[in-house]
Amino acid sequence: MATIEEYIPIVGQAVVDDLRLLATRLQGKSILNVNSTSVGGGVAEILTRMLPLLQEIGVSARWDVIKGGNQFFEVTKKFHNALHGRPTEITAKDFDVFIETGRANIAEMQIDADAVFIHDPQPIALIQKKKDNNWIWRCHIDVSNPNREVWDFLRGFISQYDAAIFSAPQFSQELSIRQFLISPSIDPLSDKNRELPESTIDKVLEKYGIERDKPIITQISRFDRLKDPIGVIEAYKKVKRYHDCQLILAGGGASDDPEGIQVLEEVRNRAADDKDIHILLLPHNDIEVNALQRASDIILQKSLKEGFGLTVAEALWKGKPVVASNVGGIPLQITHKYSGLLCYSVDGAAFAIKQLLNSPEYARKLGENGREHIKNNYLLTRHIRDYLLLYLSLIHQQDIVYL
Ligand code: UDP
Repeated sequence: MATIEEYIPIVGQAVVDDLRLLATRLQGKSILNVNSTSVGGGVAEILTRMLPLLQEIGVSARWDVIKGGNQFFEVTKKFHNALHGRPTEITAKDFDVFIETGRANIAEMQIDADAVFIHDPQPIALIQKKKDNNWIWRCHIDVSNPNREVWDFLRGFISQYDAAIFSAPQFSQELSIRQFLISPSIDPLSDKNRELPESTIDKVLEKYGIERDKPIITQISRFDRLKDPIGVIEAYKKVKRYHDCQLILAGGGASDDPEGIQVLEEVRNRAADDKDIHILLLPHNDIEVNALQRASDIILQKSLKEGFGLTVAEALWKGKPVVASNVGGIPLQITHKYSGLLCYSVDGAAFAIKQLLNSPEYARKLGENGREHIKNNYLLTRHIRDYLLLYLSLIHQQDIVYL
């Protein structure tokens, strides 16, 4: 794993010096992050990279994962869908299951840090272990239009926290606690995002039987209806009438997402026997994801709802032209016609893809602008800085003034 020094050529010496300075202000303080899965999805992705770097600069940081059975994760997936505004039937039993698993985790987990970051709704009930330390609820999902019943239930927990963090301005809610806006980030030096030799890219394509004889359009996402994989296939089919191209729809599962298998089945059925649609069930292999993104001519992210959309940042960082829905945190990353193309429908996505295929120079420019935007705003170093400043503002009010 890359050391903090290795970020200097990318982000500059001053950024790294800032992080070191901030870390010295946290001497003797400990930070704990808790979420619900150690692999799969954006939260695990970020924590995997952030924790070692925090430790390297001298911050005492840990990461723990709650335990839950299938029933619990079915309920939390329902909550997730409902919070994203998808019509979902929630029963009294669902709330009971949630509380019951919460209780088991409260009994089992050791929570003794000075600052506790609880990610997303799954571990939210742990707040009942709060003593005189600082608890922050870090919400990664789009709660701009949540199902009221689920939101009101969660609000009972949220109001006991010291602060909440949202990823985009439109997600903030009326709450009695302080709210912060901190966007997620990608790590430019991780296996997911670092430069790769062409030979590695070729090997991955070969492994999956993909040739580079026609433009490659790719969406990498968990097989989740909110990522609209069926819409991706529809858009591709519309483009295919005019341009001979191929589609890669690739994704793995997350241990806290039980819906994946069913969605994958629906996707396979919709793709039927089109040999130019490559549906890849990826093992958790960052180099493969990286290679597929780099091998692509256009990256698509046709989500119906999105927290932030790390896959968009990953693609832009690789200088790829991106077509993505104007939802969640995506418009923070893409300024329409400047650093990518935003779309609102299957037709819109197909139109944008055709436009890019017809104008390679325009596509290249969008990718180039996108990379610069990610470099300036959405790299891990900025994210760590925001977190450290937030920890400081909660732990040492007077130090923040001194700084
Ligand atoms: N991802 C992956 N393998 C997959 C599917 C997704 O490594 O098969 C990664 C993807 O590259 C990104 C993260 O998981 O880093 C997904 O984050 P995003 O914010 O796009 O969506 P989420 O899954 O959190 O809704």
